[in-house]
Amino acid sequence: MKYTSIKGMSDIMPPASAAWRKLENTALTVFGSYGYKEVRTPMLEKTELFIRSIGSDTAVVEKEMYSFKDQSDDMLSLRPEGTASTVRAYIESGAYQAEAVAKYIYIGPMFRRERPQKGRYRQFHQIGVEALGIASPLIDAEQIAMCDHFFKELGLKDYSIEINSLGCKECRPGYNKIFGDFLTSKKVHLCGDCLRRIEKNPLRALDCKNPACIEAMKDAPLIGEYLCGDCKAHMSEVQKYLKELGTKFVVNQRIVRGLDYYVRTAFEFITTKLGSQNAFGAGGRYDGLVKELGGPDVSGVGFALGVERILLLMEEGGLQLKEKEALVFFALMGEPARERLVPIIDKLRQDGVYVELDYDNHSLKSQMRRADKLFAHTVVIIGDEEIKKGVAIVRNMHTKEQEEVKFDDLVRHFVRVD
Ligand SMILES: [Zn+2]
Ligand SMILES: [Zn+2]
Repeated sequence: MKYTSIKGMSDIMPPASAAWRKLENTALTVFGSYGYKEVRTPMLEKTELFIRSIGSDTAVVEKEMYSFKDQSDDMLSLRPEGTASTVRAYIESGAYQAEAVAKYIYIGPMFRRERPQKGRYRQFHQIGVEALGIASPLIDAEQIAMCDHFFKELGLKDYSIEINSLGCKECRPGYNKIFGDFLTSKKVHLCGDCLRRIEKNPLRALDCKNPACIEAMKDAPLIGEYLCGDCKAHMSEVQKYLKELGTKFVVNQRIVRGLDYYVRTAFEFITTKLGSQNAFGAGGRYDGLVKELGGPDVSGVGFALGVERILLLMEEGGLQLKEKEALVFFALMGEPARERLVPIIDKLRQDGVYVELDYDNHSLKSQMRRADKLFAHTVVIIGDEEIKKGVAIVRNMHTKEQEEVKFDDLVRHFVRVD
């Protein structure tokens, strides 16, 4: 019997796992400087939480969730996205009582039973943030700019930022009605999904990938001119701040997010490099969701980024995150070198220095090759000659400069004492 992983769910093995870790660390660092702190929530939640937050008429809830009854007859689901759980945790912990503003980052697997394809899996991974308790449009703009910084830090270039306003509960129903009438007039051209959407959530027809629907949507009424005064003002403030932050964007009135909870700002990071699955990050404002889930009436703004898609983009662009793990490779030649240096290596590791060594007495050439492969920033070379002199040759692999360091000074050389 040979076991394989479940369709659409992948193992992340070395060396790929190192890129994952680096991406996650970079996100924690970049978003951390904007005040986002990590939360970790369970992967299983009560199904009701997702129905309530994402919306019962959405494709995610209707078709894609992994749901089951457990032995106590509780209906549970693997989380299909991160916002519902994060908001639930925020409310349950009472965090809002201590701080008016909460900024969270989460990293982890999400589950949707979709058709697996390039960059799209049934267990996929997201890095997301949520800012709770901030009404100002500055936070909408700041998150978009922050995300832009993050992608620039990764070296990504070929993408654009698209923003839209989805209106609010004052103005969206009016537009929905007008848009619904338009859809009805196009009925003969629409696919089955869109026909069902007319009743439940007409806006989603704008998102339909069916060629006939795309054609029929060409002269659809767009939301911009139907926004209420507050929504219009919010949208223009977001744009004002984005300009002040130097973030390039375009307004695309055809952006509708697949989840029910968005109001006003919606944004997407779009690339042409991933085929039809062209958004690799998206988010928006969800005022009202926290209250809907039993919490205080506070605003929310957040986004989620697809880790697999970002890594795919980096791979296709030949991008590698700068190696931040500072590996010191010990090229040891002969048993005396090993005997003398093993305690020093152990001391370095205990002090948190990442050290690798040659265990099996390979030639210096092959040891240097391995050090290169591991991206060592420094190689410490010790043979019989060095043992006699009591010094190590310490070579900087980037500058190729080398110096001699006494064995007794080696630990101090690598461990910064603050
Ligand atoms: Zn409005
Ligand atoms: Zn359609």
